[in-house]
Amino acid sequence: MAKERTLAIIKPDAVGRGLAGEILSQIHKGGFEIIAVETRRLSKAEAEGFYAVHRERPFFADLATFMSSGKVVILALEAENAIARWRELMGATDPAKAAPGTLRQQFGTSIQNNCTHGSDAPETAAFELGYFFSGRQLL
Ligand code: ATP
Ligand code: MG
Repeated sequence: MAKERTLAIIKPDAVGRGLAGEILSQIHKGGFEIIAVETRRLSKAEAEGFYAVHRERPFFADLATFMSSGKVVILALEAENAIARWRELMGATDPAKAAPGTLRQQFGTSIQNNCTHGSDAPETAAFELGYFFSGRQLL
């Protein structure tokens, strides 16, 4: 299978607890290549635009507030089957339901504060990679 790219985010709950290095280490061990990485704080408008598919959901306002509450690490990851493999490494959305050894099971503390984000399909990966890394040369 050809290499694929996905957009990952280490969310503010994880960065704020000093877990970015440990999560990056597990990304490395998982066989992903980091194509681009940026650490910064999102504005609320940027977080709302990023999660716009969820704008009708009851948790949308809290999600945008949470995602702009502190620094995030934004990553473009590359691997064979990267989209599915990164979601597998993250685990289920709710850390209480995430499989043992997944990032969310290890580090997530609630269904909102679940430490990482990952694109869920080729179309969303293309949108999300463009949302944060457009106009930049990705090697
Ligand atoms: P992500 O898109 O961040 O990778 P996901 O695809 O597993 O997560 P989505 O359904 O896309 O889950 O939800 C996006 C994010 O919204 C979740 O990761 C979580 O932070 C938050 N969220 C989802 N469901 C709830 C909920 N019921 N209550 C509070 N927050 C939620
Ligand atoms: Mg999602």
